[in-house]
Amino acid sequence: MANVKQKLLFRNKPAVSADRVDGTVARSMNFEKAGRAPRHGKVNGEKEQVRSRRMSLNDSLEGDVRDFLVNEAELHTYDDLTKVNPVTPTTVLKCLQARYSARVFYTHAGCTLVALNPFQPIPHLYSLDVMREYHSAPQPQDFKPHIFIVAEEAYRNVQGQVEPVDQSLVVSGESGAGKTWTSRCLMKYYATVAASSHKCQDTVERIERRVLDSNPVMEAFGNACTLRNNNSSRFGKYIQLQLNSSQLLVGASVQTYLLEKTRVAFQAPNERNFHIFYQMMKGATEKQRQEWEMPYNQKFSWLPNADKTLEEDRLQETAEAMISLGIDTDKRTQIFRVLASILQLGNVNFSLASESQPCDLDEESKGFLYKTATLLQVPVDELQDCLTVRTLRAGKQNVLLKPCSQSECVIRRDCLAKVIYAQLFEWLVTFINNSMCSDNSKWCNFIGLLDVYGFECFLLNNLEQLCINYANEKLQQHFVAHYLKAQQEEYVAEGLEWSFVRYQDNQSCLDLIEGSPTGILSLLNEECRLNRASDAKQFRVRLEKELSGNTRMSWDKFSKQPHFIVAHYAGRVSYQIEGMMEKNKDPVPPELLSLLQKSKNPLLQSLFAASDAEGNGSRAQSKVVTVVSKFKNSLESLMKILHGTTPHYTRCIKPNPDCRPLTFKKEEVITQLEACGIVETIHISAAGFPIRVPYASFLQRYGLITKTSLPAQINNKDGGESGEEASLGPVVQDILNAVLKTSDSSTNPNNNNLMVHCGKTKVFLTHGMLELLEEQRDRV
Ligand code: ATP
Ligand code: MG
Repeated sequence: MANVKQKLLFRNKPAVSADRVDGTVARSMNFEKAGRAPRHGKVNGEKEQVRSRRMSLNDSLEGDVRDFLVNEAELHTYDDLTKVNPVTPTTVLKCLQARYSARVFYTHAGCTLVALNPFQPIPHLYSLDVMREYHSAPQPQDFKPHIFIVAEEAYRNVQGQVEPVDQSLVVSGESGAGKTWTSRCLMKYYATVAASSHKCQDTVERIERRVLDSNPVMEAFGNACTLRNNNSSRFGKYIQLQLNSSQLLVGASVQTYLLEKTRVAFQAPNERNFHIFYQMMKGATEKQRQEWEMPYNQKFSWLPNADKTLEEDRLQETAEAMISLGIDTDKRTQIFRVLASILQLGNVNFSLASESQPCDLDEESKGFLYKTATLLQVPVDELQDCLTVRTLRAGKQNVLLKPCSQSECVIRRDCLAKVIYAQLFEWLVTFINNSMCSDNSKWCNFIGLLDVYGFECFLLNNLEQLCINYANEKLQQHFVAHYLKAQQEEYVAEGLEWSFVRYQDNQSCLDLIEGSPTGILSLLNEECRLNRASDAKQFRVRLEKELSGNTRMSWDKFSKQPHFIVAHYAGRVSYQIEGMMEKNKDPVPPELLSLLQKSKNPLLQSLFAASDAEGNGSRAQSKVVTVVSKFKNSLESLMKILHGTTPHYTRCIKPNPDCRPLTFKKEEVITQLEACGIVETIHISAAGFPIRVPYASFLQRYGLITKTSLPAQINNKDGGESGEEASLGPVVQDILNAVLKTSDSSTNPNNNNLMVHCGKTKVFLTHGMLELLEEQRDRV
């Protein structure tokens, strides 16, 4: 079929008056909006199914036809931001603010769901009844926007039209925005709707319980109170909920990313260590205190702000969740004793060293060191030697002992604590996986929930922020590529050839970061490998030499120390070079590892077994894997998994920086909207042809413009079969030609919003074209 391809220059028309949008007419049309995530096939793209969201008619016309700006009183009724006209940061912000004031916390933004954090429990919003309502609705998307729509859409999509399809729910947003809360809600949703009601009740219940119980354990060990969030996740996670062929939840597995282990030994002012330590300190019984060498009221340097009564009465809850996951009494004791050893270690201080003598310890520190050694089950003198003396090897035979300076001793102490905690966390994750994971033969599809740190830009940014922002660049690229791809596929299916969407491509930024051999990460690894004396300086020279012409990178002229700036899609971030190499090498003195391998504590033995495949336990002997190499690898496998799924995106927004209930700060929100590219997302969703109208519906509504006598099948409400639908194309084209011919010729050359394409079964329209049609229809 020949396409009608008109691109007229068109003067901005005045808004179509609201009273013209009459419910009866609206209901008789069948509009689709190119907004929501389409149903998708597997990664190879074969047999992919494309589906647009069918809007309820009142809904679509109300938003599409009325002018946004004149309807401020109704801003809160815009369930989808793609209906806002025009889409600008201000209009989107106003709309979200109006909805927040009206206590409406979820809004669609095309293929994304925007979730505003209410910062207070909202009664009944997440109740079992509400879950069941969304689950049993024939068209949940016709309900008010809710995270359960996304959950249900993914659940239904698993049974793809052609073949089952894995799904991913990507939840993003800045710290405190509500990602973890949302992920928990999603897990509860699936644990409810995908629960078996009869067969194998015991097993199934146990699995659901375990899946949910993994949350309190992982949060106790991986979350902490920060300036931005009292329960901030200090790691990223991707949890895969495994479904069997009847779509019942039969297991789960979790992958974690980049635990912020430095927090064990360093807490920024007014921040705290991981929750588990406070839980132990506040919640231990007398017997446990003895077991853990932790007398009541003992002060620990690594437990600042212990007086805040936040999570500490949760020890019982954590312990019960550990029991439910199958961690037995012995193991729990070993875990808590290892944790207690870290606290004791933090109280050990070193005196100034002389050239020839190692640092000494005062009496108090000796006591703490003794308790550390007791809890770690290692000889105390060996522990002291490891912390204060460096072993240098020259060849195979010669061993030289060199006393460490006071600051080196502190670095070793902190390093010991970090390596123990990181290994313990990894062990827990593995244990949880073994406990939740179903046999491969028992599950066939999964729904993945991704809860990762959002884009970060602090006063000082270092390697952690570079990794986090790199991950966000990857996810943004995935989002844009996926969504555009889905749109293009619908155009192809409908026989449209025109590729129209221009979007901010962040490939150049990704090249700058991950490019090989001259991307930032490769250069960083290369410098670490060379292990030169003044490595920060050398790294700067390399960056300048290799990347000086790169438009995505510049140098921070305002900082005294060298900082490079990366222009991310979400904004410019200045990264400090100082310390980056050390963080990347993340060295662990081999003496410490050997000592831990000798421990009599069975848990520590398994954590530091020499054959550790990750290379951690055997770092002394094996090639060191840098932090960025590890992170890049895990990110690549995550992206591979995501590419094999149909993604659904939720952007959580933190409406004020102080976590105050129901408080909306415009500046705070607009920054986040920019950072997650929401306006661009809406543009992508709304770009080109945000409105698709099946031919029959089109003729029903606009046939009267040219007084065309309607073919018989139009009177059939559903518009007839698709073969019949296609035969309506020429009639539709005639109407469009007539409308376009009579449109105002005194045009504004900058306005190109008057576009239309005829596909095989549908008309694809811009908002401008819809307005013109409405106007012409009104004149009849
Ligand atoms: P981080 O990146 O620091 O881990 P986050 O995005 O995971 O942050 P959450 O911990 O999920 O943030 O949310 C912060 C707090 O906001 C929660 O502890 C809870 O008090 C509140 N909150 C989040 N979402 C909701 C909601 N939908 N309803 C009520 N309160 C919420
Ligand atoms: Mg979190």
